[in-house]
Amino acid sequence: MDWRIPLGAIDFGVEEEAAVLDVLRSRWLTMGGVTQAFESEFAASVGARHAIAVSNATAALHLACLACGLGAGDEVIVPSLSFVATANAVRYVGATPVFADITSEDDLTLSVESIRRCLTPQTRAIIVMHYGGYACDMTAILSLAQERDLFVIEDAAHADGSILEGRALGTWGQVGCYSFFSNKNMTTGEGGMLVTNDDGLAERLRILRSHGMTSLTWQRHQGHAWSYDVTAVGYNYRIDEIRSAIGRVQLTKLEHFNVQRAQIVNWYNEYLQELAPSLHIPFRSHPGESCHHIFPVLLPVGGDRPSFMEAMKAQRIQTSIHYPPIHTFSAYQGLYPMDGGLPVTEGVSRREVTLPLYPGLTQDEVLFVAQAVQRALHESAND
Ligand SMILES: *Cc1c(COP(=O)(O)O)cnc(C)c1O
Repeated sequence: MDWRIPLGAIDFGVEEEAAVLDVLRSRWLTMGGVTQAFESEFAASVGARHAIAVSNATAALHLACLACGLGAGDEVIVPSLSFVATANAVRYVGATPVFADITSEDDLTLSVESIRRCLTPQTRAIIVMHYGGYACDMTAILSLAQERDLFVIEDAAHADGSILEGRALGTWGQVGCYSFFSNKNMTTGEGGMLVTNDDGLAERLRILRSHGMTSLTWQRHQGHAWSYDVTAVGYNYRIDEIRSAIGRVQLTKLEHFNVQRAQIVNWYNEYLQELAPSLHIPFRSHPGESCHHIFPVLLPVGGDRPSFMEAMKAQRIQTSIHYPPIHTFSAYQGLYPMDGGLPVTEGVSRREVTLPLYPGLTQDEVLFVAQAVQRALHESAND
């Protein structure tokens, strides 16, 4: 499809190209010095004690669950309005995902009230997801977790560069998991990062990332070790030097990317309010500084979403949905307890459409999208 305005677009320059070439010419491709530099720069950027780079955020979530010791018989509270990896990670370790509802049509992050209703004696952890880069109510969630002695794992895949009360999202709970997939605010193609301030957790995460081995090929190459022990059944969830090199460059651009995204969201708010007042825009006044990963809007109640998205497509504008709720997927249906359902998640997810958002989208393009939305709303209402 030849989109006039795609949902997202990657912003790479000559800097990323040069960084990749440097790695190729160094002839050292697996995890080594470039990855170590990426990890320490990332840790510094979010203010965490440890950062551990991995192959993707799904691997990060899996390792976070393992490192926290979650397993069979444990319940982990998760949002259903998230990417499926948030809940899959819980299933990887044999624990039970328990789906909590979101707060409201203005705040699509986990409802603290709903989390409370999900608590049982088996609850061991909460995985929060900062939808669109907007912060969950971390103060309330952390105090609830402390009260009940629960781990808090942050799925910060949307939150590269988001801040709440001066503190980076992803650094509030015991472990934070970031994604550098192609459509995220900073990218390495595939990639992810774990952060934690806990030395013990960091050590377990490092070991589990690489087969449970006590030394890396890199350390042996450097002469720091010649053998190793295997202290756990680990995985190969390593990143590589090529991706880390791209990540280091992208990290230096992240703040600027996010400033551009914020500007674009301001234009959207202004134009849509004027041209499409029947549309509901969530997160209009939300605590913290979002990195604006996506721009979600809610169609009027009873609106015809497929026709709306078709009408946008006819104008060569790509839209998407975030998300079909996880509990409705075939692989999840009826498997887990869910007293009373998730009315807010279900209501919002039927109406949600995501509009294009990426650094470099111009003011004229935003106006063009807003005008297209106005037409699409009109056409989809007439059908
Ligand atoms: C992208 C994403 C993930 C998975 O990230 P990968 O790096 O692609 O594994 C997990 N959770 C959420 C909310 C995401 O958006």
